[in-house]
Amino acid sequence: MVSIADSVVVVTGGASGMGRSMALEFASEGASVVAVDIDEDGLDEVTSEIAADGGEAIGVVGDVSDRDSVEAVVEQATDEYGTIDVLCNNAGILDDYAPVGETSEELWDRVMDINLKGVFLLTKAALPALMDGDEEGVVINTASIAGKVAGGGGAAYTSSKHGVIGFTKQLSHDYGPEIRANAVCPGFIETGMTEDMIEQTPDEVHEIVQETPAERYAEPDEVAQVVAFIASNNASFMHGAAVDVDGGWLVD
Ligand code: NAD
Repeated sequence: MVSIADSVVVVTGGASGMGRSMALEFASEGASVVAVDIDEDGLDEVTSEIAADGGEAIGVVGDVSDRDSVEAVVEQATDEYGTIDVLCNNAGILDDYAPVGETSEELWDRVMDINLKGVFLLTKAALPALMDGDEEGVVINTASIAGKVAGGGGAAYTSSKHGVIGFTKQLSHDYGPEIRANAVCPGFIETGMTEDMIEQTPDEVHEIVQETPAERYAEPDEVAQVVAFIASNNASFMHGAAVDVDGGWLVD
């Protein structure tokens, strides 16, 4: 890959949580960042913060579950910066917990459309830009520990995140070495997704994370830093991995 400092990085879910941290991290390393989200105000905040620090970023309002919207995102990114070097498919939702028998078709479709189909749609639309030129393109998908084990996410979320890991492996299989694709699997991270849980049931959250080797939850930038490493040439031999960033959640 070109060095991060010279790269163009697209981050979905860039207005909040881990996506926001990824946008800030890549911009601080000198990349041109395209932050994508449905939350326009959040995008304005993150791009203003990057600009105030002397970084380069644009915010693009886009819905990853919608093909036209995703194609418009790629067009805007390439119109602005000429190419895409790194794609971080990070946008996702965690809906109400439900086992299979209580999962409505609407809930299933909502979660799958954003968490899994969105990863497919944007990757497909961005492939020509990721593969132009001589340098490899890098794709990093945000899965979850719910992509490896069953548990807190419920049927749709767990299935979507297992799908993200499978998608990442298939992408590597079909497009390596031109595309270097990997996934990250965060554990419990303090973001927009978990803030209500942390606020409303702090004892329960404490009990859950206390069971892990790290004995705590993480800040979003602790995941963003790993993502930046995977995007860099220091991770040049990593293809198709699903990297746990979970405080050791999965050790037992
Ligand atoms: P977050 O809610 O803070 O951020 C998610 C962002 O995605 C939001 O800004 C939201 O507006 C955006 N988004 C939602 N639907 C979208 C759509 N259709 N198109 C574009 N953007 C959309 O949550 P987060 O925790 O930072 O989540 C980032 C990723 O991390 C998700 O894929 C999530 O499943 C995954 N994850 C989170 C945790 C955790 O503990 N927070 C753990 C494992 C995995």
